[in-house]
Amino acid sequence: MAEVIDLPSVRRGRNLSVVVPVYNEQAVLALLFERLYPVLDRLGVQYEVVFVDDGSRDHSPGMLRKQYRQRPDVTRVVYLRTNAGQHAAIIAGFAAATGARIVTLDADLQNPPEEIPKLLAAMDQGHDYVGSIRRKRKGDPWWRDTSSRLMNQLRARMTPILMTDQGCMLRAYDRDIADAVVASNESGSFIPALAYLFSANPTEVVVEHAERAGGESKYSLFKLTHLNLNLLTGFSILPLQLFSLVGLAISALSFVFVAYMALRRLIVGPEVEGVFTLFGILFFLIGVILFGIGLLGEYIGRIFEQSRGRPLYLVRETLVPESDSHAGPAPSGGGR
Ligand code: UDP
Ligand code: MG
Repeated sequence: MAEVIDLPSVRRGRNLSVVVPVYNEQAVLALLFERLYPVLDRLGVQYEVVFVDDGSRDHSPGMLRKQYRQRPDVTRVVYLRTNAGQHAAIIAGFAAATGARIVTLDADLQNPPEEIPKLLAAMDQGHDYVGSIRRKRKGDPWWRDTSSRLMNQLRARMTPILMTDQGCMLRAYDRDIADAVVASNESGSFIPALAYLFSANPTEVVVEHAERAGGESKYSLFKLTHLNLNLLTGFSILPLQLFSLVGLAISALSFVFVAYMALRRLIVGPEVEGVFTLFGILFFLIGVILFGIGLLGEYIGRIFEQSRGRPLYLVRETLVPESDSHAGPAPSGGGR
């Protein structure tokens, strides 16, 4: 058999791929299938849905296989060997997707699939990246709402990335941008932010938001904190630069302080009062130093993760749409 050349531009001419990461979503999958496919069928374009099973341990893998049997014309399923995390799963989906445009969607129906045409309409107007803003965030605890708003503001100040609502994953990407995200091969990355860097003409549209249709959130407070720290340290070295400025200011102040103490010792004599004030200052400085070490650690951790060069994910199996099977085996393999 002739070798299949797998270039994005010649990838069998599909218009649209919808990438859905799935991790233990048995409670919502049936409803997702029921709502997603009719929306896409109505578009009247050649599409595929790319489900990426992120090492689910519930009934999701089997449900995806059943759905593949029902709609083998337009369904692709990528099974990852282990749980690689939402963003790695999406990168696996990008790598497998063959469409000229790629839309990402959460499986839990918090982003209504009915909004997909709105994103595509924005792409028709020439945008290569379409983000989304949740009209009214629903079903998430108040602390997530507040902290995510704060993080949004912090990110807007510290990185070159302009996103009104960084948490919403319903987004559309031009093929080239998705390819660039795959090629970046960044561990612990935040895809919407990375894609934004590659986009020539980004835009955002307002979409509805709903409560999770079933099951529960896969993000704990710890994972969320980690994700947000990654967003800052992955896209900006401003924290490091600010920290050296703080260090500089404190050294200047302490120099003045030491000079004053030396003069005072010569003129007035030694002193022991105010020793607790000194302790106070000392503890503050220790706090600053520890914070700095932690900050350095974040960056070194990122360098460490990246330098190990492990694959972001491993594909166990791929179910390929019928129309593709004559074109040879599907591109599979690891993320590196
Ligand atoms: N997800 C995944 N791997 C993970 C965690 C989540 O593929 O390790 C998927 C999950 O199945 C869902 C999407 O990522 O489709 C968003 O997850 P979730 O709804 O739990 O996040 P939240 O909406 O609470 O931010
Ligand atoms: Mg969700």
